[in-house]
Amino acid sequence: MAEKLELELEVVTPDRLVVQEKVDIVMATGALGEFGILPNHIPFLTTLQPGELRYRKDNQLEYLAVTGGFAEVSDNKVTILAEAAERAREIDIDRATRARERAEKRLAIARTEAIDFLRAESALKRSLLRLRIAEKGR
Ligand code: ATP
Repeated sequence: MAEKLELELEVVTPDRLVVQEKVDIVMATGALGEFGILPNHIPFLTTLQPGELRYRKDNQLEYLAVTGGFAEVSDNKVTILAEAAERAREIDIDRATRARERAEKRLAIARTEAIDFLRAESALKRSLLRLRIAEKGR
């Protein structure tokens, strides 16, 4: 019988190792949109957009929020070097809600005051992403 091909996933941030597991498939949000990695994928390198990362293991889907970084695929290993990454169940919903409210207030006054629009917009995107992924972890 053919040996089962294995794919290893590692998600690393400046603070910690978030995931280190053998998985069946990885889907992530690259610069050009969502991409999927199966075993035996060709070597591949891309930047990541703030977005969802999900993987399947033993028929179970796991979701993470990833706020940006790089993905590298080589020798059946997917390495995600992320600015920040949280598993769905690790996301603090109150904190993400507060971050969303702060960002929305800043954006609302952005036309009249010299605030950093792009910074507030990025913070809003991160908070909305976290709230969306947290829903999936319930
Ligand atoms: P906040 O304003 O709440 O700090 P942020 O978007 O500025 O949000 P980041 O700079 O993306 O936060 O992340 C800083 C650190 O805090 C990272 O380690 C990230 O994983 C963690 N983090 C941020 N928001 C949450 C959250 N809602 N739940 C769990 N961890 C979070």
